[in-house]
Amino acid sequence: MKIQLSDGRSIPIEMHKIRIVQSTQLPPIKRRAAAIKEAGYNTFLLRTRDVFLDMLTDSGTNAMSDNQLAAMMRADDAYAGSESFFRLADAVKEVFGFDYVIPAHQGRAAEHLLAKSFIKPGDVVLMNYHFTTSKAHVEQVGGKVLEIFTDDALITDSDIPFKGNLDLNKFEEAIKTYGAEKIAYVRMEATTNLIGGQPFSLDNLRKVKDMASKHKIPLVFDGSLISENAYFIQSREKGFDGRSIKEILKDLMKYVDIFYMSGRKSAAVRGGMIATNQKKFYDQILPWLPVYEGFATYGGMSTKEIEAMAVGLREMTEQEVASSGADFIEYFVDRLKEKGVPVVTPAGGLACHVDARRFLPHIPQPEYPAGALAAAIYLVSGIRSMERGTISTDRDAQGNDVMADLELARLAVPRRVYTMSQLDYAADRIAWLHNHRDLVGGLKFIEEPPVLRFFFGKLQTVSPWAENLQKAFIKDFGEDC
Ligand SMILES: *Cc1c(COP(=O)(O)O)cnc(C)c1O
Repeated sequence: MKIQLSDGRSIPIEMHKIRIVQSTQLPPIKRRAAAIKEAGYNTFLLRTRDVFLDMLTDSGTNAMSDNQLAAMMRADDAYAGSESFFRLADAVKEVFGFDYVIPAHQGRAAEHLLAKSFIKPGDVVLMNYHFTTSKAHVEQVGGKVLEIFTDDALITDSDIPFKGNLDLNKFEEAIKTYGAEKIAYVRMEATTNLIGGQPFSLDNLRKVKDMASKHKIPLVFDGSLISENAYFIQSREKGFDGRSIKEILKDLMKYVDIFYMSGRKSAAVRGGMIATNQKKFYDQILPWLPVYEGFATYGGMSTKEIEAMAVGLREMTEQEVASSGADFIEYFVDRLKEKGVPVVTPAGGLACHVDARRFLPHIPQPEYPAGALAAAIYLVSGIRSMERGTISTDRDAQGNDVMADLELARLAVPRRVYTMSQLDYAADRIAWLHNHRDLVGGLKFIEEPPVLRFFFGKLQTVSPWAENLQKAFIKDFGEDC
């Protein structure tokens, strides 16, 4: 929700009271310098005791509601036939309209099941954009990912409302090139995580579905951030400003053959699921569920989380909840823009994304500007962000680095967790860093895993830039900040 102030400003406003808190601390700059070095300049390897504001991800880190916590108390811990599962299935039917539900322990587990069930070696999966885990699962079973986003998608400084749209001409071309029978499915990701949480429009989804139906290609919908995508449709797409989030979710689902989501984002729990109205798809996936996840009525989730997910799905359809993350992200993005920091615009659905190529133009892409920026942001603020650039892109079969389309430092804003003053602090320190950007240098790998290297890889600085940055910071703020 946004609210108008008497001076004309519009600010995001919390439509909740905070009744349980968790303390955090800001370690002094010298400790931060030691911590990020120990972590191999990889923010994934920091411990949270060294982190002030944890903006690594919005996955599983959102504030739950009192009703979610209360629901956890009635969890029915049965291996098979748990009433908790049927309460989740009821919520899925009510919110999305699907009859068949397959629980999974998180989003990537759903992706694993889909890949196992629908992709043969040599198949192609079309996407509006890939997500790290969705791509990895397609490739693990011998498939190939083809991203057919519009040319607008990669323009970071933009006012295009739907940069997550799929390019229909490229879709048609892909069908001609590969043949429809080689295309396992077309996947629409709401919202595109790696390019700034950008939504697609309902009009685009409808057209994608038309084309897919004509060629009998199933449409798979990754709804991990679906309430945010629905909120953007409501606020940005012509003809939808009078429609409720609930109605827009139903509008979207009309075009979906197989739905899946991580429950860790919009639904504010820890879990995931697949849902469909077509029994043939359900029957194709179900046999794999006990192999990888668990029985059909828990799928690797705790029954407590299943109960909380049933409540979370209904709550994310409320206007105040669907908008709670996005409005704060927009505030954050606006503060940074005001201070001249290059950010991805329009503001997206899960995070504020800083454009590292524009922030650090002097760092060549093989020296990982987004990784360097994430490390530098931590050093000057104690805020943990995530690299979303070339480090997050694995090497090709020949062992060469593959340069990412975008180099972003992603500052996730977990829903209902951080306050406006914390965002003001973040914007201030990032702006200070921007004014001292010449001090920041590149990184190189010293330990590099073969797959999804961004999780565990370790790097070092190519020059003593972290020490120089630390000196400049102490000059302005002292040693205690
Ligand atoms: C987080 C996410 C996933 C993976 O979900 P996990 O629960 O983290 O395994 C898949 N797709 C999108 C769009 C996501 O944001």
